[in-house]
Amino acid sequence: MTTELSPDALTGLLERARQDYQALVGRGLSLDLTRGKPAPEQLDLSEDLLSLPDGRHAAADGTDVRNYGGLQGLPELREMFAEVLQVPAAQLLALGNSSLELMHDCLVHAMLSVVPGAETRWVDQERIAFLCPAPGYDRHFSLCERFGIDMIPVPMTPEGPDMDAVERLVAEDPAVKGIWCVPKYSNPTGDSYSDATVARLAAMPTAAPDFRIFWDNAYAAHHLADEPVEIADLLAACAEAGNPDRVFVFGSTSKITMAGAGVAFFGSSPENVRWLLAHNAKRSIGPDKINQLRHVLFLRDADGVRAHMERQRALLKPKFEAVGRILEAELGGTGLATWTSPKGGYFVTLEVPEGCAKEVVRRAAEAGIVLTPAGATHPYGDDPRDAVIRIAPSYPSPAEVEQAIEGLAVCVRLVGYEKRAA
Ligand code: PMP
Repeated sequence: MTTELSPDALTGLLERARQDYQALVGRGLSLDLTRGKPAPEQLDLSEDLLSLPDGRHAAADGTDVRNYGGLQGLPELREMFAEVLQVPAAQLLALGNSSLELMHDCLVHAMLSVVPGAETRWVDQERIAFLCPAPGYDRHFSLCERFGIDMIPVPMTPEGPDMDAVERLVAEDPAVKGIWCVPKYSNPTGDSYSDATVARLAAMPTAAPDFRIFWDNAYAAHHLADEPVEIADLLAACAEAGNPDRVFVFGSTSKITMAGAGVAFFGSSPENVRWLLAHNAKRSIGPDKINQLRHVLFLRDADGVRAHMERQRALLKPKFEAVGRILEAELGGTGLATWTSPKGGYFVTLEVPEGCAKEVVRRAAEAGIVLTPAGATHPYGDDPRDAVIRIAPSYPSPAEVEQAIEGLAVCVRLVGYEKRAA
C-alpha cells in the first residue's frame, strides 16, 4: 500500500487533508455506520407480518399455533428454509427470534452436557479453545469471552479461513473444540467459502472427537450481485466424510423480515438435533408458533423468500455501490486503502495502513461519523496490525451513506498522510 511521493507532494496532500478535515468537522455531522441493522424501509417490506396471521391459528397439520408445544417448530417453515440453509427439513429446527441466542445456548449446553462424540462436558476440561477466522464477527468473540473459551485467530482469506492453519491447529490440539464460520458473504469481509474450503473443513482430522463447526449462515439469502453466490453443502460433506456430527448450522430471518421479530433456525445431524431438542425441552415448552405461521403466510415458499430478498437487494445495492464508488473516487490510487466489494451480506471491510485504523475511527468520531471500534473485528478486540475498519452501510439513508463515506475518506487521507509524514 505504498506510493512514492516527493516531500513537497506529501506536504501538499497533508495540507489539503487537514483543510478538508476542518471543513468536515465544521459540518457538524451525526452519522452512524456501526451496526449491520436493516433500514426502516427494509423493515417496511415486511409490514404485512403485523396483520398476520389474520385470525388463522391452524398450522398445515392442524396444530393450534396459539398453544404450547411443537418444540421442533412448524414443519412448513422448516421445509421453506431447508433449501436456503442446506439442511434437510427433518434435521432443521425453527425456534426463537435470534440465532445468536441459539449459538449461546449451544455453547452452554456443550459446557454443561456431553455433546455427541465427547467423553466429558466442556466445562470439565482444563482448557477450551475456538478458532476465530479474523477479521470476523465481534459477537462470536464476545461469546467466547463470556464462557472463558480461548480464541485462536486464523487469517481469513477470500476463500474462507486459511485452511493450512486450521488443519494444523485442529489436528494437534484436543482443546480446540470449535471454529466460528460465516460461510457466505462473511461478516465483515463479504467473502464466501470456496468448495475446497468446505471439503477440507468436512474431512480434516481433529484431535478433539467432539469438535464442532459453528456454521453461522446469517447471510445465506442476502445477495447484492446479479449472480447469487452458492456455497457447498457442509452438512452433507461432513456426513460423506464420516464426520456427521461435526457441524451446527445457524440462520435466521432477522435480515429477511424483521430483525427484532424473526425466526431463528438450527440444523445438524439427527444425533445433534436430538441432543439440542432434549436440552431445549427443559428450557421451553415450545417456540412462538404464531410468529412462525405469520412467516409461512407472508413468505409462502423458497421462491417467496427469493422474491422478498430481491426487494431487499434493491434497497441495499445502491448503498453498497455508493461505498465502492466514493472510496474509489477519494482513495483510489493513493495507496492509503483497500476495500472489499461484497457480493452480498451487510458489510464492507476497509483496510488502512498499518497502525492507522484506531486513529481513523477516532478522527471520524470527532467529525460526527461513528464507526465500529477498530479492533472489534478481531478476537479480544485486538487487530495486531491496527488496519481493519468495518463499514456497515445498511441502516443510514443513501444520502447519509454518501456523506459518511466521503467523511471517512477524508479521515483516511488525514491519518494516512500524517503517518507518512511522521
Ligand atoms: N451472525 C452474524 C454473522 C451476524 O452478522 C448477525 C447480525 N449482525 C447475527 C448472527 C445475529 O443474528 P440473529 O439476529 O439471528 O441473532
